[in-house]
Amino acid sequence: MADCEHLPNCGFCKKYANTKNLVVRGFISMYCKSAKQSECKRKEYKRTHGAPPPDDMMPSGQMMK
Ligand code: SF4
Repeated sequence: MADCEHLPNCGFCKKYANTKNLVVRGFISMYCKSAKQSECKRKEYKRTHGAPPPDDMMPSGQMMK
């Protein structure tokens, strides 16, 4: 499956691209590079608000602590 079309410009992915946090790495591989990209809450937020969400919003919709 192709990567999410937003991947090169996604604030979350840019900010956490090199993280060692396994949860974040799991999200990126499950959502951004795989089937769950259609369920990404960041995409939904952008559709609803017309602007990108905060960089710390994860694809699941929860905020990084
Ligand atoms: S977090 Fe969402 S919008 Fe960003 S690259 Fe991943 S799937 Fe796409």
